[in-house]
Amino acid sequence: MRATLSVLVLPAFVATLAAQEPSRQGPPADPANRQSQAKATELWEPVPKVVTPGTNAGAPPSDAIVLFDGRNLDGWVLARDGVTPAGWKVADGILTVDKATGSIQTKRLFKNYQMHIEWRIPADVTGTDQARGNSGVFLVSTGPGDAGYELQVLDSYENATYVNGQAGSVYKQASPLVNASRKPGDWQMYDIVWTAPVFNADGSLKTPAYLTVLHNGVLIQNHFELTGETLFIGKPFYKAYGASAPIKLQSHGDPSPPISFRNIWVRELP
Ligand code: MG
Repeated sequence: MRATLSVLVLPAFVATLAAQEPSRQGPPADPANRQSQAKATELWEPVPKVVTPGTNAGAPPSDAIVLFDGRNLDGWVLARDGVTPAGWKVADGILTVDKATGSIQTKRLFKNYQMHIEWRIPADVTGTDQARGNSGVFLVSTGPGDAGYELQVLDSYENATYVNGQAGSVYKQASPLVNASRKPGDWQMYDIVWTAPVFNADGSLKTPAYLTVLHNGVLIQNHFELTGETLFIGKPFYKAYGASAPIKLQSHGDPSPPISFRNIWVRELP
């Protein structure tokens, strides 16, 4: 009889004890203690600085470095020598690739950043595959020509090509998660978060590069870890460069009519 009773009573006693244990969601009874425990995980400094957002989607916020505002290319030079003023055509607030003069890059050097850039494949674009509105945003220019890390620009609206070379690809490293392309003649935008690779003093890789991209507001690269510079031929590999570098826009050799850019700005990140 006694044994039967303890079997019945003990589980109820243990259950009561367990209910009185402080849970992980917060301490029990004492309201003052609860307040101080809650405060222990509040962080009040450093206070994030106030940034005034742009008035409409894509407009530069108050702390942006504007690289092209529709007026001139004062902040840009030819990538082939890093000195000659960029000679691409600026008219009606937009910038159009000049295939005869080659790629252009910023005078200013960057490391980690957020970038906004708008681009348009001409309505009368011709060609197929990679020869149809090909350009590119080089997150880092490590030299003349196509040296660096390219986020592909291409007409990928009903234009088949290798998928790791379509618009929004990290060229030959990562296909976009989806194809968010608009048709030729429509403005499109990339919003980019670039984390630059870091190299050790001996030139070896310390930490890789990461890229996040929204294409027309749609996530197409999600913190993708790059395996090196983007190469036309061969496997990518890292090659040390300085702590900061220019951003480059590609003049591609295909014969299709040149594409245009507008509203380019960058926010430097730690
Ligand atoms: Mg390209």
